[in-house]
Amino acid sequence: MKLAIIGGGISSFAAAITAAKNNNDVTIIEKNNKVLKKLLLTGNGKCNYFNEDQDISHYHTNSNMDIEKIINFQNITKVKNFWQDLGMIPFIKNGYYYPYSEVASSIKETLLFYATALGINIITDCDVKNIIKENTKFHVIGANYSDFFDKVIIATGSLAYPATGTTGFGYDVAADFGHTINTINPSLVQLVTNLGIEPKWNGVRSHVVVTDLKSKKKQEGEIQLTSYGISGICVFNLSRDIAIGINNSIKQSISINFAPWCKNIMDYLNKMSQNFPKRNIISLCEIFINYKLLSAILQHLKISEKSSWKELKTSEKEKLAQSITNFQIDIVGTKSFEFSQVCSGGVNLEELNLNTLESKIVSNLHFCGEVLDLDGDCGGYNITIAILTGILVGESC
Ligand SMILES: Cc1cc2nc3c(=O)[nH]c(=O)nc-3n(C[C@H](O)[C@H](O)[C@H](O)COP(=O)(O)OP(=O)(O)OC[C@H]3O[C@@H](n4cnc5c(N)ncnc54)[C@H](O)[C@@H]3O)c2cc1C
Repeated sequence: MKLAIIGGGISSFAAAITAAKNNNDVTIIEKNNKVLKKLLLTGNGKCNYFNEDQDISHYHTNSNMDIEKIINFQNITKVKNFWQDLGMIPFIKNGYYYPYSEVASSIKETLLFYATALGINIITDCDVKNIIKENTKFHVIGANYSDFFDKVIIATGSLAYPATGTTGFGYDVAADFGHTINTINPSLVQLVTNLGIEPKWNGVRSHVVVTDLKSKKKQEGEIQLTSYGISGICVFNLSRDIAIGINNSIKQSISINFAPWCKNIMDYLNKMSQNFPKRNIISLCEIFINYKLLSAILQHLKISEKSSWKELKTSEKEKLAQSITNFQIDIVGTKSFEFSQVCSGGVNLEELNLNTLESKIVSNLHFCGEVLDLDGDCGGYNITIAILTGILVGESC
């Protein structure tokens, strides 16, 4: 069978390699001058490609279906076998898998080598503009390109990080063929706050517990405080629900515990103040909280930095203690698609055969990767989705 895979990202390669092993004639068509551009950015250039913890709660869809029909033991095993076939040796850190080389380009080179050895035709610099079904064939039309295929696989990614070539083209193709596109929102993205103290805390990193006050979901990890708001993996993992809430005009707030090690911060500060009665608050606390961060919090609470703990009124002590362990902030927005690692939403899974990801509306039209309404947390889950869905499509060819 003659197949065209539109897009040259990681899901495309999983589909192409799997389909080529079944003796199909496979062509990958990529608009950039090189394939796998986004892969090189993943995991800060190291590519976090898998995670030991495959609890289903790390995967999300807005489609009205049981996600375990796709993300299940059998399909995850296929992903593991795919990496094994490539000769992948994992370097595992807290359950996060990276290639032992710790270089994303080593995965790119291996995929390219494998694809070339299997005779996969890779066309770059070809922006596909239109796909038309003419009788049983698909006419794929790009700038200076035109060819006919028996099957077309849409692997064009989402709207996230357009610097890597993703423009949401796949959503347009799907919609033109009659598919529903579930609302697209940025996910795994920075959150914007408007407290007025952000320039003061800019650049501080701290180990915290962050709680989404609506969903009550908690994340522990390093937060990055920035000039626009907050970032870091713990924030990214809450951003999906928050972005959807904001898009629906629902007020969003989070709470940050800057002292998750402490059971009773009031007791701790009272005790420390007895040991160091003359230290001002910033000096008293700098052993556990960054002085720039505490200075910003004190400004927010309108408490003088010069006061010692003993000099504070009871109400001020309570406010400060509360802010250290339960700092509540309204989230006024998220950074845009330009900055988001993935998107929530996409091609509605209910309209696809979940074993093959073939359209129930147009036969021989398949979808894989981030174009689908399927996304994951930070930690290798999105590359796992890309590989898994690519394999399912490739196997069906
Ligand atoms: C900065 C960053 C870091 C990340 N880190 C991780 C990580 O560590 N672990 C993890 O699991 N996930 C990570 N992700 C997410 C992960 O990279 C994506 O989910 C995954 O790459 C999606 O694969 P895909 O094949 O669906 O799409 P993509 O990799 O986005 O590929 C789609 C391709 O289609 C091409 N294309 C689009 N339109 C057309 C057209 N009209 N014609 C021809 N070609 C077209 C694009 O140029 C692109 O190359 C990260 C994402 C970003 C942005």
